[in-house]
Amino acid sequence: MMICYLGLGANLGDKRKNLRQAVEMISRVDGVNLLKVSHFYETEPWGVTNQPNFINAAVKIKTNLQPLPLLDALQDIEYKLGRVRNEHWGARTIDIDILSIDGLTMNSERLKLPHPYMFERDFVLIPFSEVSGKAYPLHGDSVIKTDGCLVDFDLKMIACVDKNFGLGLNGELLFHIDEDLRRFRELTLNNTIIMGRKTFESIGRPLDNRRNIVLSKSLTNIDGVEVANDLDTLYELLKKQRSDAIFVIGGGEVYRQLIPYTSEIYLTVVDDTRKADTFLIDFNDYGGFACDFADQREGFTFKHYIRKV
Ligand code: ATP
Ligand code: CA
Ligand code: CA
Repeated sequence: MMICYLGLGANLGDKRKNLRQAVEMISRVDGVNLLKVSHFYETEPWGVTNQPNFINAAVKIKTNLQPLPLLDALQDIEYKLGRVRNEHWGARTIDIDILSIDGLTMNSERLKLPHPYMFERDFVLIPFSEVSGKAYPLHGDSVIKTDGCLVDFDLKMIACVDKNFGLGLNGELLFHIDEDLRRFRELTLNNTIIMGRKTFESIGRPLDNRRNIVLSKSLTNIDGVEVANDLDTLYELLKKQRSDAIFVIGGGEVYRQLIPYTSEIYLTVVDDTRKADTFLIDFNDYGGFACDFADQREGFTFKHYIRKV
C-alpha cells in the first residue's frame, strides 16, 4: 500500500461538478482508498493565460496499484468526463495529475514523479498542503478558497462501537445503551442525519424532528426521507437547504464513503468485545484525528475527535 497525492483541475463545463464526479470516480477505482479531499480553490490560468479560471483541488489516497496502472485509471476517468487533449496547458473539463507517490522518484516519458511543476504552482501547493499537512514556500499567485466540495459542510460522524471498533451484527447495532441513545438524540435533534439504506431499513422509519437523508445507489422515493443516489446529489441536497450540523449515522459503508469529508467524530466506545460483522473504518488512516474530549461513564466512554489541520 502506498500513499499518493493527486492534483485536480477543471476550467470547462460545470467545473465544480466535474471535480466532484472525478473524486467520486477515483474513490471507486479498484485498489484505491480515498483518504482525504481538499476544499475547492478558484485560480487563474497558469502557462496559457487566455482561458477561463480554474477550480483546483487535491486528494490523498492509499493504493496498491503500481504507478502506471494508477495513471491509466486516472486517464480513463479524464476520458470518461469528456477530457479532450489538444493544446498542452489548454482548457479542459478535468485534469488529474499524480503529484507524488510516497516520495518515489520517476522520470519516464509517461510519468514523472514528483510532478515536475508542482512546487512552482500555488494552485497545486495550497490544496496539496491541506491534504498532506506539508507546507512549502508559495509564490503569491491568486488562489481563493471557494465552495463546491462536500468538505464545506464539516460533516460529523456519530457511532457506537466495541473495543474492536465493531459496529453491528446481522444488520443490527451491537449496543442499545439508554444514555448513549439519549445523547445521540440530543446531538442530532433539529439537524440533518445521513445514513445508508441498511441503517434506514433497520430503523424502519424516518427519525423525528430531523432531516433524514438516505445515501443509496438503488433506492428511489420514500416518505419523510430524501434519497441521494450519489455524492454529487448529496452535495446538491445539502447545498439547497443548510442546517447547523450534519451527522453521518452509519452504517460501515457510509462511514467509509464520507470520512474523507468529515471534520468531527462523536464516538461511544463500549468497554466490551462482541461478535460483529461490520466495523468502523480506522479513521486514523484518514489524515489524522485528535481526541479532544473523553468522558468515562459506567461501562463506556464518550469520545470526541477533531480533524488535525
Ligand atoms: P502539466 O503536466 O504541466 O500539468 P497537463 O496536465 O496539461 O500539463 P497533460 O496533457 O494532462 O498535461 O498530460 C500530458 C502527459 O503527461 C500525460 O499523457 C502523462 O503521460 C504525462 N505525465 C508525466 N508525469 C505525469 C504525472 N505526474 N501525472 C500525470 N501525467 C503525467
Ligand atoms: Ca496538469
Ligand atoms: Ca495532466
